[in-house]
Amino acid sequence: MTSARTRDRLVRRLKEHGIRTEAVLNQIRNVPRHLFVDEALASRAYEDTALPIGHGQTISQPYVVARMTEALLSGFNGGNVLEIGTGCGYQTAVLSPLVKKIYSVERIPALLKRTRRRLRELDIYNVQFRPGDGWEGWPKYAPYDGIIVAAAASVIPEKLLEQLAPAGQLVIPIGPPGRQELMLVVRKDDHFEQSSLGAVSFVPLVAGK
Ligand code: SAH
Repeated sequence: MTSARTRDRLVRRLKEHGIRTEAVLNQIRNVPRHLFVDEALASRAYEDTALPIGHGQTISQPYVVARMTEALLSGFNGGNVLEIGTGCGYQTAVLSPLVKKIYSVERIPALLKRTRRRLRELDIYNVQFRPGDGWEGWPKYAPYDGIIVAAAASVIPEKLLEQLAPAGQLVIPIGPPGRQELMLVVRKDDHFEQSSLGAVSFVPLVAGK
């Protein structure tokens, strides 16, 4: 159920759905997603679906993680990434070898505690975590070459735009439940360029701690 064949099937599905970046597909194959969910759900870990991780939160669908990672890395020259909504750390693990460093913010401390341990056990060390409110970003290490948000906001958070480096890219789901769109925002000289990457379904980016 967690075999190479099962993982290959998932990778094939993502390819059929348009994921092209080899490094991203390799990460989907290599990261042991069954270790990011409850044992009772491990047999479903390589299905292309979101699954519950407790505290009313979910591990993102592999296709969506791949799509967001691919979008973030397009036009990305390496560097630092701010991640909002660490959750179980699956997106973090997929992204970690593809960037220099990840700064990851999660509002539920109990989730963060388990995720810290899990990523250490997987020998992932280029991640710094912080419990906090993602609407504020993480000013201390700004600006970021990429920002990736794993929960849907009503509007693009102003603070995240401020913390984006020149030519930096922000990938974020925007909109109310049932009508969310994945947006790519690129910082140009004197403006931000926005484009839609299609419909998605995320838990809300909760306001405040
Ligand atoms: N990245 C995860 C998905 C996490 S689900 C994965 O790879 O599967 C979204 C996460 O965003 C949840 O853990 C939730 O607690 C967190 N979240 C919601 N609102 C937030 C906020 N304002 N600041 C930080 N994290 C938030």
